Amino acid sequence: MTDDTNRDRSLQAMDDQATEFSASADELLRRNASFAARFRDAELQVVPLRHLAVVACMDSRMDMFEILGLGHGEAHVIRNAGGVITDDVIRSLCLSQRYLQTREIILIHHTDCGLQRVTEDEFKAELEAELGVKPWWALESFKDPYLDVSQSIQRLHLTPFLPHKDNIRGFVYDVTDGLLHEVLPG
Ligand SMILES: [Zn+2]
Repeated sequence: MTDDTNRDRSLQAMDDQATEFSASADELLRRNASFAARFRDAELQVVPLRHLAVVACMDSRMDMFEILGLGHGEAHVIRNAGGVITDDVIRSLCLSQRYLQTREIILIHHTDCGLQRVTEDEFKAELEAELGVKPWWALESFKDPYLDVSQSIQRLHLTPFLPHKDNIRGFVYDVTDGLLHEVLPG
């Protein structure tokens, strides 16, 4: 079986699961009411206690607070598809460092990422064929999460908008065993 066939099947599998969809908002609102009934965070301050910002993929298997043993109020957590360092992530980090006193950045990408299932060109061609317009943004797909973390660290070092770059480290989270593997500067 070719890689393409594998990819088509996994995308098809994702579509099949989506057909069993029912909206969650009402149920989640009920859960929020019980959360608020035992709310304990009213005293937390806007400045993160560890002066830390975490940039991570949006993957639903990763609870950043649980994975890192973080408490509420300890870190900013900035997430998008892939944990990519985009202009918008730089925007958040710039605010985080300049106005909210964070001094350390931790990047977390992971194995089996959705962005490994498509290529930039295929994705754009598909959208163009379907919608008549090619997206003006990059999907930022990748093959190797380790190389992608390294790329992201380089982008952070290259931006002029971050005053604090002495404590930047990057990791790949293994979705099969929960362990973080550090990506060392190469
Ligand atoms: Zn991901």
